[in-house]
Amino acid sequence: MVNRSLDGEASRPKFLKRLPTAMTFLCFRCERNKTSKLQAEWHTSQGIKVICNGCYGELVAKARVMK
Ligand SMILES: [Zn+2]
Repeated sequence: MVNRSLDGEASRPKFLKRLPTAMTFLCFRCERNKTSKLQAEWHTSQGIKVICNGCYGELVAKARVMK
């Protein structure tokens, strides 16, 4: 299951961060716990959402299509 409720905002700013150590976090979009050194902050109208590297890539691709 993927939470696509905010995919219409794919073109909003996203910042990929490389953490010093792997961290476990809940990805807002795929709603799964991820353990990774890479996480992205997505600035939406609903606030800042933390997403995984995979969802970040999908949103970047989507934003390109929407332009
Ligand atoms: Zn994800």
